[in-house]
Amino acid sequence: MHRALALYSGGLDSLLSVLIIKEQKIDVIALKFLTGFVSPLKEEDLNYAKQFNFEIKEIDIKDKFIEILKNPEHGYGKNLNPCIDCKILMLKETKNLMPQYGASFVVTGEVVSQRPMSQKRELLTVIEKKASLEGIILRPLCAKLLLPTRVEIEGIINRDLLYDISGRTRKPQIALAKKYGIEKTPQPAGGCLLTDPCFCKKVRDLMVHNELTLKNIELLRVGRHFRISKRCKAIAGRNERENEILLNRYTGLFLYPSDLKGPVILLSGEHSEDDVNIAASICVYYSKRKNAEIVIKSEIDEHRKIYNAISEEEIVKYKV
Ligand code: SF4
Repeated sequence: MHRALALYSGGLDSLLSVLIIKEQKIDVIALKFLTGFVSPLKEEDLNYAKQFNFEIKEIDIKDKFIEILKNPEHGYGKNLNPCIDCKILMLKETKNLMPQYGASFVVTGEVVSQRPMSQKRELLTVIEKKASLEGIILRPLCAKLLLPTRVEIEGIINRDLLYDISGRTRKPQIALAKKYGIEKTPQPAGGCLLTDPCFCKKVRDLMVHNELTLKNIELLRVGRHFRISKRCKAIAGRNERENEILLNRYTGLFLYPSDLKGPVILLSGEHSEDDVNIAASICVYYSKRKNAEIVIKSEIDEHRKIYNAISEEEIVKYKV
């Protein structure tokens, strides 16, 4: 039996592509690439893999992705999404895995002209070339609009059973989802945080301050973020769950109201006494009081002091 590796984002298009190829009696292994900005495999993905009988794996590319994000050769999309370089990286990694899994071709859920940046017809060719995968990337949803791939020419895949979808319409994909009995239609793409303008603001702040590390990126998913000074950020939990995450997963200087009625704040980076004072006043602000006793706790020391809340006008200055 022939085998393919499929780029799997968790979005509908990548799922459909797997199913279309599986229908042609090809064994498909779906690869979910973890960049640090997409969620890991969810229960839903595992359920699809079980329901439709395909293998699914996570591939961690965070370290390599972070370098691309800092300086993408092909630039960013509408936000901070370096889609062309990201696709090239994922395909290169897939190529490296092909011998290990005995795969002879690669499947992606791309649709010609669906996304402005990475799915223009000519760009698909550039991406293929850069990843050294010319002729062996099959895009089942739009294959009929592209030149035949090697597996189509060799008759391993029947081109007649592939599709000619293009543009931003979703109707053909929704119809296909129905055909395969996919009840809860997933989003078209996989939900990359680098396409979210609010999240990108926080990423940009890390970049500007030369603080783009895996740990700092992970922290962006938790709490409200404040740039207190060039070297210091305050991260305030928005609820009990986030307060616990901050306290249990991270080390550093913590601030919280002594009666625990308010947020936990983590100070990340180097901090001066002024920075601590500002963070404490933010802590009081989110405790919804005019003043409160705040505990300041490091790994070696703990003390407490009464602070006043920061004003609305002031807090805006620090919010990322
Ligand atoms: S949206 Fe995100 S995960 Fe998808 S190709 Fe672009 S950068 Fe990569």
